[in-house]
Amino acid sequence: MDLRYSESEEAFRSSLRSWLAEVLPTLGPRPSNLDWPGRRAYDTTWQRMLFDAGYAGIDWPVEGGGRGASPVEQLIYLEELERAHAPYVGVNFVGLLHAGPTVIVEGTPEQRARFLPPILRGDEVWCQGFSEPGAGSDLASLRTRAERDGDEYVVTGQKIWTSHAEVADFCELLVRTGPEDGRHRGITWLILPMDRPGIDFRPLRTIAGSTEFGELFLDGVRVPVANRVGDENDGWRVTMTTLSFERGTAFVGEVLQSMELLRGLRSMARSTGEWDEAEVRRRVGHLGAELDALWALARRNVSQAARTGVPGIGGSVYKLALSELRQRIAELGVDLAGPAGLVFGDLPGDRALALAGSGGTGSGGTGPDGTAPGGTGSDGARVPGNAELVNTWVHSFSRTIAAGTSQIQRNIIAERILGLPKG
Ligand SMILES: Cc1cc2nc3c(=O)[nH]c(=O)nc-3n(C[C@H](O)[C@H](O)[C@H](O)COP(=O)(O)OP(=O)(O)OC[C@H]3O[C@@H](n4cnc5c(N)ncnc54)[C@H](O)[C@@H]3O)c2cc1C
Repeated sequence: MDLRYSESEEAFRSSLRSWLAEVLPTLGPRPSNLDWPGRRAYDTTWQRMLFDAGYAGIDWPVEGGGRGASPVEQLIYLEELERAHAPYVGVNFVGLLHAGPTVIVEGTPEQRARFLPPILRGDEVWCQGFSEPGAGSDLASLRTRAERDGDEYVVTGQKIWTSHAEVADFCELLVRTGPEDGRHRGITWLILPMDRPGIDFRPLRTIAGSTEFGELFLDGVRVPVANRVGDENDGWRVTMTTLSFERGTAFVGEVLQSMELLRGLRSMARSTGEWDEAEVRRRVGHLGAELDALWALARRNVSQAARTGVPGIGGSVYKLALSELRQRIAELGVDLAGPAGLVFGDLPGDRALALAGSGGTGSGGTGPDGTAPGGTGSDGARVPGNAELVNTWVHSFSRTIAAGTSQIQRNIIAERILGLPKG
């Protein structure tokens, strides 16, 4: 087996690297998490730049309008974006990483032609309307009702925790079309246009201060039957496709982000002298080894998705491991921050200045949350500023809940991968 990159893969990496070096400086500063119109504009502008340069939908098949890149190229793409500190998908998360891929696999040719190109161009933003009060982990108990009326469905009910709905144009929506007690058998997957009358979105503010998600109230909202993906009452099967993308490949780039964060923490510990403590070195070493293992698993998921069109059930293993590991990396960050970790914001002259005094620089760009400028360590790693560290830690708690809790992933692994009896 030849584990080296081929000439064409090296050429792909080098042209992507040059393009990133050229365009990233032209992208303005990342807006604050509180500025939703600004966030949408920033994320969709970046998506448009990727599209114009031929890098949008890198892992989407050519028939879906994507680049149809090989698994190796997909991984090179993610590595290079992270290396260059390029923006994350942001508000394009649902459209690019699981709604679009679901439409590719399950949609009609008309749906693919209508909905996929605007996602790739950054013209249309999607959100996910799956969870309801009382139907999160037990998603099959959802009650939002859709009644057929001619060539439309009339939808009434409530969704909750709908991320990015504030700026979304469409929502991947699960509704009940079968009997109330039909569970998995009575569910349908719809594309809900967010500009329809009868939709009321009420943002929910998190402890981090921003309104990442909210409640979606639907009162007699009319959705064309043409927007149904899959058959009526066959939405659970379609949902399994969506969730396999959400858990199996959507978070692949986050392993690389986590590696970058860990490198930054190591650099920070070196600059403050905490690296001399064996316990700190041991923690960094363990976390680094786990990230390496997870990157191997991520590569396996990407290869599987490229081979079969859909990531497998192993996405639950990946999602479980990544979300718990992210929490431990974030915890290391606030431990290293010491008393500053109690302050939810930037500190005048924090690590950026300390780095300037130790051979690094104090101007290493903006943190992924758009709040905290970091520094660059003498080893070239981007060291997060205080606000970014604390923000990362606060956000890390939600990771073992979003996209299915750790307990639910463990149930899936036990029952569907290991074949253990139902608890
Ligand atoms: C940051 C964030 C973003 C989100 N974005 C979206 C979104 O965009 N769209 C969307 O639809 N949803 C979204 N969600 C919702 C998310 O999918 C749900 O919160 C999650 O599925 C858990 O459901 P729940 O909150 O109703 O908790 P519950 O299901 O009520 O669970 C409560 C607790 O009970 C445990 N539990 C429940 N059932 C079992 C069981 N059978 N065995 C063992 N333990 C069990 C759970 O693990 C959990 O600890 C988001 C959540 C977060 C945190």
